[in-house]
Amino acid sequence: MSKSKSSQSSKSSKSSKSKKPKAARGWAEPADLALRPQPLAGLECASTPGWTGDRAAAEAQLAANGAALSELQEKLFADGRSGGTRSVLLVLQGMDTSGKGGIVRHVIGQVDPQGVMHRSFGVPTDAERKHNYLWRIRNALPRPGYIGVFDRSHYEDVLVARVNELVPPEVWGKRYEEINAFEAKVAAAGTRIVKVALVVSAQEQKARLRERLTRKDKFWKYNPSDIDERAKWPAYREAYQAVLDRTSTDTAPWHVVPADRKWFARLAVSQLLLDALTDLDLGWPPPSFDVKAEKARLEKA
Ligand code: AMP
Ligand code: MG
Repeated sequence: MSKSKSSQSSKSSKSSKSKKPKAARGWAEPADLALRPQPLAGLECASTPGWTGDRAAAEAQLAANGAALSELQEKLFADGRSGGTRSVLLVLQGMDTSGKGGIVRHVIGQVDPQGVMHRSFGVPTDAERKHNYLWRIRNALPRPGYIGVFDRSHYEDVLVARVNELVPPEVWGKRYEEINAFEAKVAAAGTRIVKVALVVSAQEQKARLRERLTRKDKFWKYNPSDIDERAKWPAYREAYQAVLDRTSTDTAPWHVVPADRKWFARLAVSQLLLDALTDLDLGWPPPSFDVKAEKARLEKA
């Protein structure tokens, strides 16, 4: 349960009651805690863990978070420009229609695109297949100062690869530990990893797929293979549960976000990202020049 909060408690020794991380208004407890992994079998996909407000309140909070996110993203960018090594990586996983694209548009869309490195991972290309599965992931990691966003990720290599037996069990079976070691290195190099599993119910997925087959502006999102994957729902559930059980670590914990209500999923991811950026405790970089002297030079110019 104790993660990055230890740094907080060691910092603020002034007030004994400021030890607990604060939850923003509307959250009964911090999103980080409310969304810790729980057995998927018991998850209510239309629930809103930790959130006590309604949809309107969530939308208002999302907008407020956006303003805060935008400022912190700029601080992160400035920090990177000034020699800082930190970055943030948001990993989005979820079945088709779980809303990964909507998160990118509505949450990441709130910050300056200049500071975002977004990458979606599909079926590996021939070139990618020549390398280890982590090769393309490593190449897409955010540089210092950036917010990286993965729409799907290396976790596909223990999800679709496991369910569809793209590699034998002895190969995918070793990947959980490989992934943990890989992420530990990434985190040690300065990247704060925020992992989110968006969990949509089978019923809601059906409704969303139906919509994709009904609206001409949605056809492009539909892929006939979505129905084949849907047919393997229990195997995917099991594979997702294994991911949560085996790759939720102190440095890179998973968060499970019920995704039947898009407004909640967007708010939840925005809050997790905002809390992660806030925790970096970023300041504006000091000037690398003599401000007074530069002011004087400017007046004479
Ligand atoms: P979409 O996100 O809807 O564009 O679909 C991307 C597809 O690529 C999904 O069906 C994923 O399961 C598939 N995919 C992503 N990564 C891998 C991988 N490493 N191996 C096989 N299939 C993958
Ligand atoms: Mg798809």
